[in-house]
Amino acid sequence: MKTIIEPFRIKSIEPIRFTTYEERKHILIEAGYNPFLIRADDVLIDLLTDSGTSAMSAKQWAGIMEGDESYAGSRSFFRFENAVRKITGDKFIIPTHQGRAAEKILFFILGGEGKFIPNNTHFDTTRANIEFTGAEAVDLLNETGKHPEIRADFKGNMDIAALEKFILDKKPENIPLVMITITNNSGGGQPVSMQNIREVKEVCKKYNLPLFLDACRFAENAYFIKRREKGYENKSVLEIAQEIFSYADGATMSAKKDALVNIGGFLSLNDEKLAAKCRNLLIVTEGFPTYGGLAGRDLEAVAQGLEEVVDEHYLQYRIRSTEYLGEKILEAGIPIIEPPGGHAIYIDAKRFLPNIPPREYPGQSIVCELYLEGGVRSVEIGSVMFGKYDKATGKLIPPPMELVRLAIPRRVYTQSHIDFVAEVVIEVFKKRNELKGYEIIEEAPALRHFTAKFKPIGN
Ligand SMILES: *Cc1c(COP(=O)(O)O)cnc(C)c1O
Repeated sequence: MKTIIEPFRIKSIEPIRFTTYEERKHILIEAGYNPFLIRADDVLIDLLTDSGTSAMSAKQWAGIMEGDESYAGSRSFFRFENAVRKITGDKFIIPTHQGRAAEKILFFILGGEGKFIPNNTHFDTTRANIEFTGAEAVDLLNETGKHPEIRADFKGNMDIAALEKFILDKKPENIPLVMITITNNSGGGQPVSMQNIREVKEVCKKYNLPLFLDACRFAENAYFIKRREKGYENKSVLEIAQEIFSYADGATMSAKKDALVNIGGFLSLNDEKLAAKCRNLLIVTEGFPTYGGLAGRDLEAVAQGLEEVVDEHYLQYRIRSTEYLGEKILEAGIPIIEPPGGHAIYIDAKRFLPNIPPREYPGQSIVCELYLEGGVRSVEIGSVMFGKYDKATGKLIPPPMELVRLAIPRRVYTQSHIDFVAEVVIEVFKKRNELKGYEIIEEAPALRHFTAKFKPIGN
């Protein structure tokens, strides 16, 4: 087979800035050893997130000019509504400025004290929005998904038996909805199988619970189903996506992922009463229902992006570029979540730095070193992001995994950029015995990873 190439050519470029090791050392200290606090201009290759970092196509940029900025009933809204509905099949399509705004509206209405919301793995904003209402966000990931070294096709799957047990334990009336995140971002970008989605739906039906998708990477998930699940090899990605959504009663989505735009999101749902409540809240917090906190041009770009993202040449290149980085660093003996996920490579920091315990944030240590070594920005997904404190003892309760995510922006970097990243990771791995643990010296009460400040231990 020939090399899988970028299925586009470059029309407009953006220079990236080189810095020296000494400069980066200084920058890192200034940022409190938190890459979220580094200026983007000081980053050479930015793998902090794949969110809102996509390169838009010429047609999307054309859409930006075509955008209808009418306050109510904008033409761009109807194009957006059609594009979303073509995929989700839902009656009510509500634009929001980001995924978390859709989550906030949904959980403000359905959450609250005494409620429980199960998911394969909640993403951090989803968890935060649920917990903010006093409800509890619970992860019911299948066992293979918890073991980075196990290779399996659908490590994002929900544990069906655990879900049913959970519903019986907590009582269906305390569970306003069940969620599935596709692909499972916090669990390594791993896909969920159609069979699993169908089985979750069966359980939901049995207890009369609505099923919602956190659908940020629905196209990547659909492509994995096409490649890995029996019976789907000859279906189009669009058909597969439509089948996925056919099992759901609704979805929240950040358009900053698989809609290939820099801002946007939506809520898609079928329940008329719930939709009315959502729209009422939308008007208070986001905007009128035909723009929901976005400009008409943004809606246009989302509509176009949703058409482009199900293109199979694009998805083949997308999934292959991530896998390519994963294979390169695996070959060097670096532990990652296997197999590579859709949008990112997740380094297993526990195995990379076995001598640094979770309470000294091994992931943060790798993140800092990747920046120092090559100006590569990544993000810790471990005890910094998800660690909690025991209320009685004040001790850190670490999450099951300590990870470093190298997220790949869509259509942004070329193969040589990725080769460079692999070289940087390998260089850091060679130095792993010199790496230090970190302590937190400043933190916020919620979503602390965005603003926390750190200090290397023993410095
Ligand atoms: C990004 C993301 C969100 C939140 O979307 P924003 O647009 O960043 O608010 C929710 N869930 C998952 C799985 C995500 O990846």
